[in-house]
Amino acid sequence: MKYNRIPITEYICLYTGTGTFNEMRRESMEEYLDISREIEMKKREVDPDSDRLVSIRIPSILHQFTMTKHKKTLGEIVAESHHNGHVSVSRDKFRLDKDIALSLFDFATKSIIDHLQKLVSLPSISDCTAILMVGGFSESRVLQHRIRDAFLTLQVIIPQDAGLAVMKGAVNFGFSPMYIEERIAKYTYGTSFTHDLTESCLHPPAPRYTFSDGITRCGGLFHVLVKEGSTLKLDSIHTQFCESGTPDQTDANLPLFASECPNTELISDPGCRLIGNLNVPIDPKLFQSGQIYNVGFRFGGTEIVVTVNNTITGEEFSTSNWDGGVEPYQRQHPYRITWWIRNKTANAERY
Ligand SMILES: [Zn+2]
Repeated sequence: MKYNRIPITEYICLYTGTGTFNEMRRESMEEYLDISREIEMKKREVDPDSDRLVSIRIPSILHQFTMTKHKKTLGEIVAESHHNGHVSVSRDKFRLDKDIALSLFDFATKSIIDHLQKLVSLPSISDCTAILMVGGFSESRVLQHRIRDAFLTLQVIIPQDAGLAVMKGAVNFGFSPMYIEERIAKYTYGTSFTHDLTESCLHPPAPRYTFSDGITRCGGLFHVLVKEGSTLKLDSIHTQFCESGTPDQTDANLPLFASECPNTELISDPGCRLIGNLNVPIDPKLFQSGQIYNVGFRFGGTEIVVTVNNTITGEEFSTSNWDGGVEPYQRQHPYRITWWIRNKTANAERY
Protein backbone atom coordinates (compact mmCIF):
# COMPACT_ATOMS: atom_id res chain seq x y z
CA MET A 1 0.00 0.00 0.00
CA LYS A 2 1.36 3.39 -0.99
CA TYR A 3 0.76 5.13 2.35
CA ASN A 4 2.15 2.44 4.63
CA ARG A 5 4.90 4.63 6.13
CA ILE A 6 2.70 7.32 7.59
CA PRO A 7 0.57 7.56 10.72
CA ILE A 8 -3.19 8.08 10.63
CA THR A 9 -2.96 11.84 11.26
CA GLU A 10 -0.72 12.34 8.24
CA TYR A 11 -3.00 10.19 6.11
CA ILE A 12 -5.98 12.42 7.01
CA CYS A 13 -3.83 15.49 6.19
CA LEU A 14 -3.43 14.16 2.65
CA TYR A 15 -7.10 15.12 2.22
CA THR A 16 -7.55 18.06 4.60
CA GLY A 17 -4.28 19.77 3.64
CA THR A 18 -0.64 19.75 4.78
CA GLY A 19 -0.19 21.11 8.29
CA THR A 20 -3.91 21.25 9.10
CA PHE A 21 -3.45 19.19 12.29
CA ASN A 22 -0.87 21.70 13.54
CA GLU A 23 -3.16 24.60 12.65
CA MET A 24 -6.02 22.90 14.51
CA ARG A 25 -3.78 22.48 17.57
CA ARG A 26 -3.03 26.21 17.53
CA GLU A 27 -6.60 27.35 16.86
CA SER A 28 -8.68 24.83 18.83
CA MET A 29 -6.85 22.65 21.30
CA GLU A 30 -10.11 21.07 22.48
CA GLU A 31 -10.97 19.73 19.03
CA TYR A 32 -7.37 18.66 18.47
CA LEU A 33 -7.43 16.64 21.71
CA ASP A 34 -10.81 15.14 20.77
CA ILE A 35 -9.59 13.75 17.45
CA SER A 36 -6.23 12.67 18.94
CA ARG A 37 -8.08 10.67 21.60
CA GLU A 38 -10.38 9.17 19.00
CA ILE A 39 -7.47 8.12 16.80
CA GLU A 40 -5.76 6.49 19.80
CA MET A 41 -8.96 4.55 20.52
CA LYS A 42 -9.34 3.49 16.88
CA LYS A 43 -5.75 2.27 16.81
CA ARG A 44 -6.68 -0.19 19.53
CA GLU A 45 -10.02 -1.13 18.00
CA VAL A 46 -8.97 -1.93 14.43
CA ASP A 47 -9.43 -5.68 14.10
CA PRO A 48 -7.56 -7.63 11.40
CA ASP A 49 -10.27 -10.33 11.57
CA SER A 50 -13.14 -7.92 10.89
CA ASP A 51 -14.20 -6.19 7.66
CA ARG A 52 -15.86 -3.30 9.49
CA LEU A 53 -15.08 0.19 8.29
CA VAL A 54 -13.03 2.39 10.62
CA SER A 55 -14.83 5.68 11.29
CA ILE A 56 -13.12 8.78 12.65
CA ARG A 57 -15.14 11.88 13.50
CA ILE A 58 -13.57 14.92 11.85
CA PRO A 59 -13.94 18.14 13.94
CA SER A 60 -15.76 21.05 12.28
CA ILE A 61 -12.62 23.21 12.31
CA LEU A 62 -10.82 20.65 10.13
CA HIS A 63 -13.71 20.80 7.64
CA GLN A 64 -13.31 24.61 7.62
CA PHE A 65 -9.54 24.40 7.04
CA THR A 66 -10.15 21.98 4.16
CA MET A 67 -12.63 24.37 2.56
CA THR A 68 -10.27 27.34 2.98
CA LYS A 69 -7.29 25.49 1.52
CA HIS A 70 -8.95 23.59 -1.34
CA LYS A 71 -12.25 25.48 -1.93
CA LYS A 72 -13.86 22.05 -1.80
CA THR A 73 -15.51 19.94 0.86
CA LEU A 74 -13.71 16.97 2.37
CA GLY A 75 -16.27 14.69 0.67
CA GLU A 76 -15.49 16.20 -2.75
CA ILE A 77 -11.73 15.78 -2.26
CA VAL A 78 -12.14 12.15 -1.19
CA ALA A 79 -14.43 11.47 -4.17
CA GLU A 80 -11.74 12.79 -6.55
CA SER A 81 -8.89 10.84 -4.93
CA HIS A 82 -7.57 7.56 -6.26
CA HIS A 83 -8.49 5.96 -2.94
CA ASN A 84 -12.16 6.69 -3.66
CA GLY A 85 -14.08 3.52 -2.90
CA HIS A 86 -11.68 2.65 -0.10
CA VAL A 87 -12.19 5.94 1.76
CA SER A 88 -15.39 7.90 2.14
CA VAL A 89 -16.93 10.76 4.08
CA SER A 90 -20.34 10.40 5.68
CA ARG A 91 -21.60 13.51 7.50
CA ASP A 92 -18.76 14.34 9.91
CA LYS A 93 -17.17 10.87 9.72
CA PHE A 94 -14.12 9.89 7.73
CA ARG A 95 -14.36 6.18 6.88
CA LEU A 96 -11.53 3.87 5.90
CA ASP A 97 -11.91 0.34 4.62
CA LYS A 98 -10.00 -2.53 6.23
CA ASP A 99 -7.05 -2.60 3.80
CA ILE A 100 -6.32 1.12 4.13
CA ALA A 101 -6.73 1.03 7.93
CA LEU A 102 -4.39 -1.96 8.29
CA SER A 103 -1.77 -0.42 5.98
CA LEU A 104 -1.49 2.56 8.33
CA PHE A 105 -0.11 0.20 10.97
CA ASP A 106 2.64 -1.21 8.74
CA PHE A 107 5.44 1.16 9.60
CA ALA A 108 4.90 1.13 13.39
CA THR A 109 4.43 -2.63 13.66
CA LYS A 110 7.37 -3.41 11.36
CA SER A 111 9.67 -1.16 13.43
CA ILE A 112 8.61 -2.93 16.65
CA ILE A 113 9.01 -6.41 15.16
CA ASP A 114 12.43 -5.58 13.67
CA HIS A 115 13.59 -4.30 17.07
CA LEU A 116 12.28 -7.40 18.86
CA GLN A 117 13.96 -9.69 16.34
CA LYS A 118 17.27 -7.98 17.05
CA LEU A 119 16.72 -8.43 20.79
CA VAL A 120 15.80 -12.11 20.72
CA SER A 121 18.85 -12.86 18.56
CA LEU A 122 21.17 -11.60 21.32
CA PRO A 123 23.02 -14.48 23.01
CA SER A 124 22.25 -13.05 26.47
CA ILE A 125 18.51 -13.63 25.96
CA SER A 126 18.64 -16.66 23.74
CA ASP A 127 16.64 -18.57 26.38
CA CYS A 128 13.73 -16.12 26.13
CA THR A 129 10.46 -18.06 25.91
CA ALA A 130 7.84 -15.33 26.12
CA ILE A 131 7.06 -11.77 25.09
CA LEU A 132 5.14 -9.62 27.56
CA MET A 133 3.29 -6.82 25.80
CA VAL A 134 2.56 -3.70 27.87
CA GLY A 135 1.75 -0.06 27.11
CA GLY A 136 -1.20 1.48 25.25
CA PHE A 137 -0.25 0.24 21.78
CA SER A 138 -0.08 -3.33 23.12
CA GLU A 139 -3.88 -3.21 23.25
CA SER A 140 -3.95 -2.92 19.45
CA ARG A 141 -5.28 -6.14 17.94
CA VAL A 142 -3.27 -5.47 14.79
CA LEU A 143 0.00 -5.29 16.72
CA GLN A 144 -0.92 -8.35 18.82
CA HIS A 145 -1.76 -10.30 15.66
CA ARG A 146 1.46 -9.34 13.87
CA ILE A 147 3.66 -10.06 16.90
CA ARG A 148 2.11 -13.51 17.27
CA ASP A 149 2.68 -14.19 13.55
CA ALA A 150 6.30 -13.01 13.69
CA PHE A 151 7.26 -14.97 16.83
CA LEU A 152 5.51 -18.30 16.44
CA THR A 153 7.81 -20.11 18.87
CA LEU A 154 7.43 -17.58 21.67
CA GLN A 155 4.51 -17.26 24.04
CA VAL A 156 2.91 -13.81 23.80
CA ILE A 157 1.47 -12.60 27.10
CA ILE A 158 -0.83 -9.58 27.15
CA PRO A 159 -2.07 -8.63 30.63
CA GLN A 160 -5.52 -7.17 31.13
CA ASP A 161 -5.28 -3.35 30.86
CA ALA A 162 -1.89 -3.58 29.11
CA GLY A 163 -1.99 0.21 28.79
CA LEU A 164 -1.94 0.60 32.58
CA ALA A 165 0.60 -2.15 33.25
CA VAL A 166 3.62 0.18 33.07
CA MET A 167 2.11 2.58 35.61
CA LYS A 168 1.03 -0.29 37.90
CA GLY A 169 4.57 -1.70 37.73
CA ALA A 170 6.04 1.69 38.65
CA VAL A 171 3.69 2.02 41.63
CA ASN A 172 4.50 -1.51 42.82
CA PHE A 173 8.21 -0.76 42.48
CA GLY A 174 7.74 2.47 44.47
CA PHE A 175 6.21 0.51 47.34
CA SER A 176 8.74 -2.29 47.11
CA PRO A 177 12.17 -1.58 45.53
CA MET A 178 12.94 -5.31 45.86
CA TYR A 179 10.22 -5.97 43.27
CA ILE A 180 12.78 -6.03 40.45
CA GLU A 181 15.28 -8.76 41.25
CA GLU A 182 17.70 -8.26 38.39
CA ARG A 183 18.64 -5.79 35.69
CA ILE A 184 20.62 -5.83 32.46
CA ALA A 185 23.72 -3.60 32.49
CA LYS A 186 23.22 -0.70 30.10
CA TYR A 187 26.94 0.13 29.99
CA THR A 188 30.25 -1.56 30.64
CA TYR A 189 31.35 -0.40 34.09
CA GLY A 190 34.89 -0.37 35.32
CA THR A 191 37.57 1.28 37.40
CA SER A 192 40.97 2.61 36.47
CA PHE A 193 44.27 1.11 37.52
CA THR A 194 48.00 1.52 37.03
CA HIS A 195 50.72 -1.07 36.58
CA ASP A 196 54.48 -1.01 36.34
CA LEU A 197 55.71 -0.07 32.89
CA THR A 198 57.40 -3.03 31.21
CA GLU A 199 58.51 -3.87 27.72
CA SER A 200 55.72 -6.41 27.47
CA CYS A 201 52.92 -3.82 27.90
CA LEU A 202 50.39 -4.71 25.18
CA HIS A 203 47.76 -2.01 25.75
CA PRO A 204 47.41 1.12 23.56
CA PRO A 205 49.69 4.04 24.47
CA ALA A 206 48.76 5.22 27.98
CA PRO A 207 49.98 8.13 30.13
CA ARG A 208 53.12 7.27 32.15
CA TYR A 209 53.84 8.55 35.64
CA THR A 210 56.96 8.23 37.75
CA PHE A 211 55.90 7.82 41.36
CA SER A 212 57.70 8.88 44.55
CA ASP A 213 59.26 5.37 44.79
CA GLY A 214 61.03 6.01 41.44
CA ILE A 215 58.96 3.42 39.53
CA THR A 216 57.34 4.47 36.23
CA ARG A 217 53.82 3.19 35.79
CA CYS A 218 51.20 3.20 33.03
CA GLY A 219 48.07 5.05 34.17
CA GLY A 220 44.47 5.36 33.05
CA LEU A 221 44.02 1.65 32.28
CA PHE A 222 40.41 0.43 32.30
CA HIS A 223 39.53 -2.52 34.48
CA VAL A 224 36.18 -4.09 33.58
CA LEU A 225 33.85 -4.85 36.48
CA VAL A 226 30.63 -5.46 34.55
CA LYS A 227 30.13 -5.92 30.82
CA GLU A 228 27.27 -4.28 28.99
CA GLY A 229 24.33 -6.65 28.66
CA SER A 230 25.25 -8.81 31.65
CA THR A 231 22.63 -9.72 34.22
CA LEU A 232 22.91 -7.89 37.53
CA LYS A 233 21.16 -9.51 40.47
CA LEU A 234 19.84 -7.16 43.11
CA ASP A 235 22.17 -8.39 45.83
CA SER A 236 25.21 -9.42 43.82
CA ILE A 237 28.39 -7.55 44.76
CA HIS A 238 31.50 -7.24 42.59
CA THR A 239 34.55 -7.10 44.81
CA GLN A 240 38.00 -5.79 44.18
CA PHE A 241 40.99 -5.41 46.46
CA CYS A 242 43.23 -2.39 46.43
CA GLU A 243 46.36 -1.21 48.15
CA SER A 244 48.42 1.94 48.40
CA GLY A 245 50.95 2.29 45.61
CA THR A 246 53.70 4.05 47.55
CA PRO A 247 54.69 4.21 51.25
CA ASP A 248 53.85 7.93 51.50
CA GLN A 249 50.32 7.68 50.08
CA THR A 250 47.68 9.13 52.42
CA ASP A 251 44.55 8.68 50.36
CA ALA A 252 43.26 6.70 47.38
CA ASN A 253 40.82 7.56 44.62
CA LEU A 254 38.36 4.91 43.55
CA PRO A 255 36.83 6.18 40.32
CA LEU A 256 34.02 4.41 38.50
CA PHE A 257 33.57 4.69 34.75
CA ALA A 258 30.73 3.82 32.39
CA SER A 259 31.66 2.95 28.84
CA GLU A 260 29.57 2.45 25.73
CA CYS A 261 32.19 0.05 24.39
CA PRO A 262 32.62 -3.39 26.03
CA ASN A 263 36.23 -3.59 24.80
CA THR A 264 37.43 -0.35 26.38
CA GLU A 265 41.13 -0.51 27.29
CA LEU A 266 41.82 3.04 28.49
CA ILE A 267 39.61 5.38 30.49
CA SER A 268 40.31 8.02 27.82
CA ASP A 269 38.76 5.84 25.08
CA PRO A 270 35.79 7.34 23.20
CA GLY A 271 32.48 6.63 24.93
CA CYS A 272 34.07 6.10 28.35
CA ARG A 273 33.23 8.62 31.07
CA LEU A 274 33.75 9.10 34.78
CA ILE A 275 30.48 8.72 36.70
CA GLY A 276 31.75 8.90 40.26
CA ASN A 277 34.76 8.96 42.49
CA LEU A 278 35.20 7.84 46.07
CA ASN A 279 38.23 9.11 47.95
CA VAL A 280 39.30 7.14 51.02
CA PRO A 281 42.10 7.89 53.50
CA ILE A 282 45.06 5.51 53.72
CA ASP A 283 47.30 5.21 56.75
CA PRO A 284 50.92 5.14 55.43
CA LYS A 285 51.83 2.87 58.37
CA LEU A 286 49.72 0.12 56.80
CA PHE A 287 51.65 0.17 53.50
CA GLN A 288 53.44 -3.09 54.29
CA SER A 289 50.10 -4.84 54.85
CA GLY A 290 49.36 -4.92 51.08
CA GLN A 291 45.80 -5.14 49.81
CA ILE A 292 43.96 -3.95 52.87
CA TYR A 293 41.00 -2.41 51.09
CA ASN A 294 38.10 -4.57 50.07
CA VAL A 295 35.92 -2.61 47.63
CA GLY A 296 32.39 -3.83 46.91
CA PHE A 297 30.33 -2.54 43.98
CA ARG A 298 26.61 -3.29 44.07
CA PHE A 299 25.17 -2.71 40.59
CA GLY A 300 21.79 -4.44 40.76
CA GLY A 301 19.72 -1.64 42.34
CA THR A 302 18.47 1.65 40.95
CA GLU A 303 21.72 3.21 42.18
CA ILE A 304 25.24 1.88 42.19
CA VAL A 305 26.48 1.59 45.77
CA VAL A 306 30.16 1.33 46.60
CA THR A 307 31.43 0.15 49.96
CA VAL A 308 35.09 0.21 50.94
CA ASN A 309 36.21 -1.83 53.91
CA ASN A 310 39.58 -1.49 55.61
CA THR A 311 40.33 -5.09 56.57
CA ILE A 312 42.88 -4.04 59.23
CA THR A 313 41.04 -1.28 61.07
CA GLY A 314 37.47 -2.32 60.23
CA GLU A 315 36.63 1.18 58.94
CA GLU A 316 33.94 1.25 56.30
CA PHE A 317 33.19 3.91 53.71
CA SER A 318 30.08 3.83 51.62
CA THR A 319 28.34 5.90 48.97
CA SER A 320 24.80 6.22 47.86
CA ASN A 321 23.43 7.89 44.75
CA TRP A 322 26.15 6.49 42.55
CA ASP A 323 23.93 6.73 39.55
CA GLY A 324 24.37 4.07 36.88
CA GLY A 325 21.76 5.51 34.54
CA VAL A 326 23.68 8.12 32.60
CA GLU A 327 21.43 10.07 30.28
CA PRO A 328 22.88 11.64 27.12
CA TYR A 329 22.31 15.20 28.30
CA GLN A 330 24.32 14.49 31.44
CA ARG A 331 27.26 13.51 29.30
CA GLN A 332 27.21 16.91 27.70
CA HIS A 333 26.52 18.79 30.92
CA PRO A 334 28.24 16.94 33.73
CA TYR A 335 27.30 17.99 37.20
CA ARG A 336 28.87 17.40 40.54
CA ILE A 337 27.30 16.78 43.90
CA THR A 338 28.72 15.83 47.25
CA TRP A 339 27.75 12.33 48.21
CA TRP A 340 26.45 11.22 51.49
CA ILE A 341 29.30 9.41 53.20
CA ARG A 342 28.78 7.20 56.20
CA ASN A 343 32.24 8.03 57.45
CA LYS A 344 32.69 11.79 57.31
CA THR A 345 36.44 11.52 56.75
CA ALA A 346 35.96 10.28 53.17
CA ASN A 347 35.10 12.52 50.25
CA ALA A 348 33.14 11.49 47.22
CA GLU A 349 31.91 13.25 44.16
CA ARG A 350 29.56 12.31 41.42
CA TYR A 351 30.20 13.67 37.97
ZN1 LIG B 1 51.61 -0.83 30.70
